[in-house]
Amino acid sequence: MSFDGRPDPDRVFLDALSDGHLIVQSCSICGVHRAPPAECCPECGASGHTWRRSAGTGRLERSILLGEADSFGDDPEITRAIGAVRLSEGPTVSVRLVGPVPPVGAEMEVQVLSGSLIAQSASTSP
Ligand SMILES: [Zn+2]
Repeated sequence: MSFDGRPDPDRVFLDALSDGHLIVQSCSICGVHRAPPAECCPECGASGHTWRRSAGTGRLERSILLGEADSFGDDPEITRAIGAVRLSEGPTVSVRLVGPVPPVGAEMEVQVLSGSLIAQSASTSP
């Protein structure tokens, strides 16, 4: 709990992740979404917020390959890169990239796997 008795936003966010859900904070004053969460809105400074489930879609902002493309074998679950995806709700989250790593700007699907975020190109998902 934080000092004013509301649940710690980090705790709420991480608890949702461990339940398999990606949620984003929504400022009750200006409506800006943020993830990971913060005590106060970076835009207007308000502390009031609600939570909403992310659609799990976004665009790749950057990626750092962890090896040559052909060094990962055929395992579709293996982490090939780490990256950042700007969610359709607005915030940018850090993800592990699985499957072929698309160019920056590609549409991505973000999922929660074992409490952490993974993303793959929306065009290669089943
Ligand atoms: Zn705000």
